[in-house]
Amino acid sequence: MIVIMRSRTPQEHIQAVVDKVNQLGLKPHISAGEETTIIGVIGDERRLDVSVFDMMEGVERVVRVLKPFKLSSRDFHPENTVIQVNGTKIGADSVVIIGGPCSVESHEQLFEAARVVKESGGTLFRGGAYKPRTSPYSFRGLGEKALTWLAEVKAIYGLAIVTEVMSPDQIPMVSGVADIIQIGTRNMQNYALLDAAGRSERPVLLKRGMMSTIEELLMSAEYIMSNGNEQVILCERGIRTFETTTRNTLDISAVPVLKELTHLPVLMDPSHASGRARYVNALSRASIAAGADGLLIEMHPHPEQALSDGAQSISPEAYTTLIGDVRQVAAAVGRTL
Ligand code: PEP
Ligand code: MN
Repeated sequence: MIVIMRSRTPQEHIQAVVDKVNQLGLKPHISAGEETTIIGVIGDERRLDVSVFDMMEGVERVVRVLKPFKLSSRDFHPENTVIQVNGTKIGADSVVIIGGPCSVESHEQLFEAARVVKESGGTLFRGGAYKPRTSPYSFRGLGEKALTWLAEVKAIYGLAIVTEVMSPDQIPMVSGVADIIQIGTRNMQNYALLDAAGRSERPVLLKRGMMSTIEELLMSAEYIMSNGNEQVILCERGIRTFETTTRNTLDISAVPVLKELTHLPVLMDPSHASGRARYVNALSRASIAAGADGLLIEMHPHPEQALSDGAQSISPEAYTTLIGDVRQVAAAVGRTL
């Protein structure tokens, strides 16, 4: 942290800041210029509130030097983290596609979708048992029954299961079936849930809050990691902007920014980002071209009959086409699928 004093600040104010730094157990480093004095604060500033200095007399501004996130930061862990799930590596050279319906709706629907994912060479399958819905009157998932069917999909097709948890008490039961537990956009800052996921042994797919910054996403990852679970997969799923032609706006910049800031794998969800099935292919290709480690794709055997997110769910045919298209882009950027 650097404390910049106003020009021609009386020495007593400068001394008061220096005393405060010492009092906090940190080391001050004073550079007195002709116009102004700058005080460097040496030591871990993460626990410090900027306002401690900001409020002091003579202080013009306080600048943080260290990033507020630590365990997720590439500064301390330069190589990419690769998360291995049921034999599939996430964050390695090969990109991954997690496909499946938004919600588990029936045994038949689930198995049709699983068969499509399996036959297209997929290894990771998603389906929601507990659905966070804007309206309490919408379909909110089949809960435990859906988990039982997901366990069947796993046993029969050998697909790894990704499914969402909405509260800490769901984690033990969901972890019995899920290979990856998903934390959705609305829960990105549910700190009790993040803490509980951090105590779980399952990798966590953490979706970016629709109104959260990249730094806030990383701070949420930090909650999980600081509880001992370092297997965090980040997912950009569109943020809210003034644009109305799409459900959200896919923040493509999040990919290079996250790849620079963190060693964690970065996935993209073009389904929730666009809200429209017909835009999913283009956004998928763009995501992989930008350097994403994989995609989360909503696919439904009969999108027009879906109980949730039908408009953005692609058909099995479109899913197969998407995989071929993404494979070409992956090859063009030196990756495989
Ligand atoms: C989902 O993955 O179906 C979902 C609810 O996503 P999000 O939390 O990004 O809205
Ligand atoms: Mn959905």
